[in-house]
Amino acid sequence: MSQADTTVREDGIIDSVSGPVVTAVDLDARMNDVVYVGEEGLMGEVIEIEGDITTVQVYEETSGVAPGEPVENTGEPLTVDLGPGLLDSIYDGVQRPLDVLQDKMNSAFLDRGVDAPGIDLEKEWEFVPEVEEGDAVEPGDVVGTVPETVTIEHKVLVPPNSEGGEVTAVEEGEFTVEETVVELDSGEEIRMRQEWPVREPRPAGDKKTPTEPLLTGQRVQDGLFPIAKGGTAAIPGPFGSGKTVTQQQLAKWSDADIVVYIGCGERGNEMTEVIEDFPELPDPQTGNPLMARTTLIANTSNMPVAARESCVYTGITIAEYYRDMGYDVALMADSTSRWAEAMREISSRLEEMPGEEGYPAYLAARLSQFYERAGYFDNINGTEGSISVVGAVSPPGGDFSEPVTQNTLRIVKCFWALDADLAERRHFPSINWDESYSLYREQLDPWFEENVSDDWPEVRQWAVDVLDEEGELQEIVQLVGKDALPEDQQLTLEIARYIREAWLQQNAFHDVDTYCEPDKTYLILTTIKTFSDEAFDALEAGVPVEEISDVEALPRINRIGVQEEYEAYMDELKDDITEQIRELY
Ligand code: ADP
Repeated sequence: MSQADTTVREDGIIDSVSGPVVTAVDLDARMNDVVYVGEEGLMGEVIEIEGDITTVQVYEETSGVAPGEPVENTGEPLTVDLGPGLLDSIYDGVQRPLDVLQDKMNSAFLDRGVDAPGIDLEKEWEFVPEVEEGDAVEPGDVVGTVPETVTIEHKVLVPPNSEGGEVTAVEEGEFTVEETVVELDSGEEIRMRQEWPVREPRPAGDKKTPTEPLLTGQRVQDGLFPIAKGGTAAIPGPFGSGKTVTQQQLAKWSDADIVVYIGCGERGNEMTEVIEDFPELPDPQTGNPLMARTTLIANTSNMPVAARESCVYTGITIAEYYRDMGYDVALMADSTSRWAEAMREISSRLEEMPGEEGYPAYLAARLSQFYERAGYFDNINGTEGSISVVGAVSPPGGDFSEPVTQNTLRIVKCFWALDADLAERRHFPSINWDESYSLYREQLDPWFEENVSDDWPEVRQWAVDVLDEEGELQEIVQLVGKDALPEDQQLTLEIARYIREAWLQQNAFHDVDTYCEPDKTYLILTTIKTFSDEAFDALEAGVPVEEISDVEALPRINRIGVQEEYEAYMDELKDDITEQIRELY
């Protein structure tokens, strides 16, 4: 960051305006410098320099801006403000706090040329030092803590681009983020606020192979398609298939310390819902508001396209900052398709050579650079932290062969494919078990074996096999009807139905069923397996399949999800099923 470039940056003049893209002449700028465009000083970023022509993407609406108006260069890249106050905040794509902007303008729509710092510069925070005079500190080291919210302790870090040194003065007490809290012998003053250029990953040590799951509390995900802490996942699905509900379930229930939720340009009213709903959500882990460990970035489709382009970078930089404190961060981006469309729009304004379906040729590279910032890291201060990234994809018409879905598929290791047919049949979460996959499954097995049950992988494989067999049998059933199948296959269909209805389906809106701990996920499946084992024994002993299916205890399987006292319930249910089936022969 410390560019020792001292040339005076000349301001320029607007040459042309095309939507969010403005060209300027006579501007002495570098790539990614932030500039202020036109009389109103609209914020923009340099995205191309060719000879004397500098191209700028503008983060605000440009109507009325005309050639001949000035362009002022700041000589600085687009940065985020980092420090206490990030949590419980709602930002636009360039980290302007929505509430502050709205107060300034007294309207729900953002006005132009209004700027606001990303974190409150006036608020005083309680700084508790963790270093003493004479201590040597290095980049990334924790010099103190701040109770940022009721839930999260903020760690004040020596900035990664600092030289480090010996502590010569330490403060304690209430300070604003701009006041010095620690001084070093080099003369460097450390404050609670630091900045970081959004397009540059914050430095970290090695990425490690993740071995711990990011538990989602959703059976189909934890049970069949688990994601690791530090992992990447995509949720593609057509409109109405449950992308937003799935993302919000993750935000609420996943066992991440910090949530960064990027709402990227879905229809305007939908984002308004998110902005209104999120602050109301309780945090099931603590009982405090969920916002106490959440940063929300909201870009509605009526906000300028360039701000949509930048919102994912703003989000991931904030995620990296909390990772550096040693936290597990979960970042949700809903939806990355809107982000890709913003790239496409800007690219077409630049008259770049279009790639597939008009997306720029660098679409794949941008997607992978973004997901690449996920991972389980050794931090530079010796702690470990993780960023798990979950991106929703909204392919037009639900067609997964389109470029954003396909390129995302090549990058992410976990794929939760939402299915319109399942959603229509009210099978929720509508994650299609045939099309979805997780490449973390085997590497997470040891964790599940140790923390849930030794036979977790076997039981899961049994469920996968039954579902596979059901898939094949369904094709026959469609041709000849269920009754034409041999009895053992009819029984398989019956068992598969319980796996789907009692295990895979989960109601996000039911108080108890909304979250399922891994033990419960496991026990539900073993209860169904008890039925399966007993039923096949009975079948072998000559009991007709209808009699087995009619056993009185069976319908209770479908009520397991809503049981709070599930252990006792399942013990009893397993006994009843066993007893009743054995009575048949
Ligand atoms: P999308 O974001 O893909 O357009 P939504 O997430 O808004 O779709 O989901 C559409 C509707 O589907 C929701 O309003 C809800 O009624 C239902 N739904 C989705 N997921 C679940 C779930 N896990 N449990 C219950 N209902 C769900």
